Amino acid sequence: MAYKRDEEKFKGLAEERTEILFWLAKANTEEVAKGYVKSAIRIAKFCNLRLGNKKALFCRQCQTFFNSENSKVRLNSKKKRTEILCLRCGYKRFYGYEREQKEKRKKKNILESGEQLRNKFK
Ligand SMILES: [Zn+2]
Repeated sequence: MAYKRDEEKFKGLAEERTEILFWLAKANTEEVAKGYVKSAIRIAKFCNLRLGNKKALFCRQCQTFFNSENSKVRLNSKKKRTEILCLRCGYKRFYGYEREQKEKRKKKNILESGEQLRNKFK
């Protein structure tokens, strides 16, 4: 990065832009969406931006924006992960969901214990 002072400003801008680009990709056809995804990745790389959850929206190898026609999403309960298969190039990607599950359970436990407490004081 040439101008280190402006890095944070750039990051904010880049975040906004990538969000817009993904929104556009969702609204357009597959061929057009590919271009949007490519430019979003380019912006993210230039500004050291993490795409995070958005990574699951497109194929890592051929940059196809996923919809119900060009991808298959399956849940593997044995290995506790989401498997996304790109039907255009055959690339498979995994995202574990164990952590999310644990967090959900924690939240649920806290809520339940809170309810028990409330019932005690009734
Ligand atoms: Zn692909």
